[in-house]
Amino acid sequence: MPKPVIEPNTCKAEPGALRPVIDRNRCEGKAGCVAVCPYGIFAIGTLPPAERAGLNWKGRIKGTFHGWQQALLVDVDACRACGMCVAACPEHAIRLEKRQAA
Ligand code: SF4
Repeated sequence: MPKPVIEPNTCKAEPGALRPVIDRNRCEGKAGCVAVCPYGIFAIGTLPPAERAGLNWKGRIKGTFHGWQQALLVDVDACRACGMCVAACPEHAIRLEKRQAA
């Protein structure tokens, strides 16, 4: 699927002001976010074992069933908060969060 073209003036924030957060209990690696993000922030890959530790029982079952393939954050600092990934995720696994000051 070709990526949608987004003009810069439709972006809602400066790069890095907000960032996507993925609910690991919900993500099933369906790649809607990968398809729509104009900035290449997501990739599908294997969730590292350390990130599986805090999952609830549903998340562990889903993860096992899907071979632990989930959306991973590749370049989170480039997020422009357009919200397309939030709308595209069929599992409602993505939200945008204000970045904490370092
Ligand atoms: S909000 Fe927009 S720029 Fe940020 S990760 Fe989602 S699709 Fe990409």
